[in-house]
Amino acid sequence: MIVLFPSLADDAAPRLAERLRSGGQAFETIEARQGEVYLLSDGNPGQFSAWAEVAECHEIEGAYGLVSRKERETSQVPLGTFSSGNGRPVIVAGPCSVESASQIEGAARDLAAAGAHALRGGAFKPRTSPYAFQGLGEEGLQLLAGARAVTGLPVVTEVMSPEDVPAVAEHADMLQIGTRNMQNFRLLEAVGRAHKPVLLKRGMMATIDEFLAAAEYIYLRGNRDIVLCERGIRTFEPRLRNTLDLGAVALLKRLTHLPVFVDPSHGSGIAELVPDLARAAIAVGADGLLIEVHPKPTEALSDGRQSLLPSEFADLMRDLQAVGRAVGRPLAATAVDAAEASAGG
Ligand code: PEP
Ligand code: MN
Repeated sequence: MIVLFPSLADDAAPRLAERLRSGGQAFETIEARQGEVYLLSDGNPGQFSAWAEVAECHEIEGAYGLVSRKERETSQVPLGTFSSGNGRPVIVAGPCSVESASQIEGAARDLAAAGAHALRGGAFKPRTSPYAFQGLGEEGLQLLAGARAVTGLPVVTEVMSPEDVPAVAEHADMLQIGTRNMQNFRLLEAVGRAHKPVLLKRGMMATIDEFLAAAEYIYLRGNRDIVLCERGIRTFEPRLRNTLDLGAVALLKRLTHLPVFVDPSHGSGIAELVPDLARAAIAVGADGLLIEVHPKPTEALSDGRQSLLPSEFADLMRDLQAVGRAVGRPLAATAVDAAEASAGG
């Protein structure tokens, strides 16, 4: 892959293309983010790297050469003022769906006080039943932005279709691609051209290679800020909503430079199991967690059965800090830690 300097005049890509064509070289132009042009061509990267228009040259092996561990050291992906992938796990928590101003703001305040790093909540909801609550849409995005204004927590929320990417990117700090859309290739390309980090959830039926190839779709459009999220896969086991594949986390850490998160809520479907799986996820090497928390789980419009109470989440945060310290990866520092330290804690 040949990456051209973004500042080049508009005719640089066609000129380079003409040079490749006249040399009899097959190539493909990739429509990347605004101002960025990539060319894909066979051939020895050394032959292109000397060209003045070329900023970077990558030799791509297989379906996920760019996100492969071979390409570079661990990536750090921003989440508001935090960074994931630097060895200090970040905890993203919140309700499955944004339901009302009081619900999301109340949740956000409790989560911030407990030391969460970011707020999650769906405004666009992918529901199995067309009769189930579908989310508040744009209004939900506004409510998330309001909760961020009150608490300072950055916001992670799902985008379900390419036409919604601009609106969601305007309000969110990280764009979530849900399990059902992991192979929605036009959506992957659309978030690849966006200027916001992406949280890509593993398809519930996806192999690890398919998961990495999906991330490559995003990376190839210019967006390098990608976090992977293991959220459980479908197996023969009916007692859990999904089977949380922590083996995949250990393997992904070796296969890719992208940070890897774990979602123990969708990974089990059972609130009582979430703390156990969350602790295990930090121990196995997760760079972050996505945890569903609702002020009143029994009244939640979606996923109440797997949602923790804010008080349960606060207890869990203490455990996660202990596990993180035990494995040499304490949680990312927050304002709550600073306040406790200055109080002599
Ligand atoms: C969610 O995070 O609420 C969600 C719908 O997740 P998934 O796509 O993993 O089911
Ligand atoms: Mn959910």
